[in-house]
Amino acid sequence: MKSSDMPSSAICDILVVGAGPAGASAAAAAARPNLQVLMIERRAVVGLPVQCAEYIPALLVGELNIGRKYLVQPVRGMKTFLAGREVKETLSPGFIINREQFDQTLVQAACDSGAHLMLNTKAVSQNGDDVIIKPKGRPPLKIKAKIIIGADGPLSTVAEWIGAAHHDLIRAIQIRVPLKHRLEFTEVYFSKDFYGGYAWLFPKGDQANLGLGIKKKGRRPPPLGRLLEYFTSQCSRAGKIVANPSGRITGWIPAGPVSKIVHGNVLLAGDAAGHTHPITGAGIFPAVAAGRMAGTWAARAIQEKNLQVLSGYESEYRNLFGDSMQRAVSRRQQMESRWDDLDNILKNCWVAFKEYYAGT
Ligand SMILES: Cc1cc2nc3c(=O)[nH]c(=O)nc-3n(C[C@H](O)[C@H](O)[C@H](O)COP(=O)(O)OP(=O)(O)OC[C@H]3O[C@@H](n4cnc5c(N)ncnc54)[C@H](O)[C@@H]3O)c2cc1C
Repeated sequence: MKSSDMPSSAICDILVVGAGPAGASAAAAAARPNLQVLMIERRAVVGLPVQCAEYIPALLVGELNIGRKYLVQPVRGMKTFLAGREVKETLSPGFIINREQFDQTLVQAACDSGAHLMLNTKAVSQNGDDVIIKPKGRPPLKIKAKIIIGADGPLSTVAEWIGAAHHDLIRAIQIRVPLKHRLEFTEVYFSKDFYGGYAWLFPKGDQANLGLGIKKKGRRPPPLGRLLEYFTSQCSRAGKIVANPSGRITGWIPAGPVSKIVHGNVLLAGDAAGHTHPITGAGIFPAVAAGRMAGTWAARAIQEKNLQVLSGYESEYRNLFGDSMQRAVSRRQQMESRWDDLDNILKNCWVAFKEYYAGT
C-alpha cells in the first residue's frame, strides 16, 4: 500500500487522525463521492509494529466485509487461571488474527471507498480551524478540516487538544514464544503480582503471544520486565512453551472511557476515546464499531451542513455500549480497591463468571 499523493488543496471535509481499526473504519464509513476524507498515519507502514495479542471475537468477522485472509487460527474460548490454577473454562468462539494484515486490509477498504491516505504523517497541533500536520522529512502543512476524527490510539494527540487525554492507562508488555503443543483456548492468568490486570498466553499456530498488562500502583512504575520473566518461566515449567522469546513489544491500554467523545467539530473513537473494554482490554471490536459510527455521523453532519448532528454519535455510542461500559468501569473500581482480596472478588470482576453480570 502506498501513501497517496498529497491532496491538491489543504482543505478537506473530514480529517481522520490514525489508521488503526478505528481510523480505518471511520474513513471507510465517511467516504463517499462528494466528500474529501483524508486519513493521516504517523507510521511508515500501517499496522507495524504490532502491539496486540491478536484476539478477536467471531462476531466481528461476520460484521466485516473484508474476506478472511487475516485469520490465523480459531479459538474455542478462554481458560481463566488464578494463582496458577485453572478456575474457569468459557466457551466463546473467536480467532487469533494477523493484526498487521487485518489493519492493512481495513485501511485498503477505506482507500477503495475513496479516502486519501498519507503515511509517515503526524498530527501535531490544532490552531482554530487549522490542523498542523507534519509529513516526515517535509515541512509542516496546514489542513483546514470541517470535522476531525481523533482515532490516534491510547496516547491521543487529538484528545489532548480537547482536554480529554487519558491518564488512566494500563502498561503492557508482550513477547512471542514457541508452543510445545497447540492450544485451542486463550489463557488468562490472574495473580496478586499483576496489579489491576492479568497475564495472557494466546495461541497463534505453533507460537503464542505471551504478555501481561498491569496498572501502576502508587508512584512506582510496574516492574514489567521482571514480571514477564516470572510468567514466562511459569509457562515454561508448566510445559506449555519453549522459553525462547522473540519480538518484545510494549504498549498502553486505556482502563476507562473519556467523559466526552464529541467536542465541537472533533470526535474521538477507539482507544483515543477509551473505548477499549476496561476489564479485558479488548479494543479491536469497539474501535471498529465506534470508528464506523463516528465516520457515518461525520459524513451526515457535512451533508446536512450542521455540526449539531454530531451529538448523534455520542448518543448512538451510549445506547449500544453505555451499559456494558458502565458495568466494566464499576467492576474495575472494585477490583483495584480490593486487589488484596483478589481470590474472593475475581468472580465479580472478571467477565468469565456469571457474577460479573449481576446487578449494574
Ligand atoms: C499488548 C496489547 C495487547 C492487546 N491485545 C488485544 C487483543 O488481543 N484483542 C483486542 O481486541 N485488543 C487488544 N489490545 C487493544 C487493541 O490493540 C486496541 O484497543 C486497538 O488497537 C484500538 O484501535 P485504535 O484504532 O483505536 O488505535 P490504534 O490501533 O492504536 O491505532 C491508532 C493509530 O494512530 C496512529 N497515531 C497515533 N498518534 C498519531 C498522530 N499524532 N498522528 C497520526 N497518527 C497517529 C498510530 O500510529 C496508530 O496507527 C491490545 C493492546 C495492547 C497494548
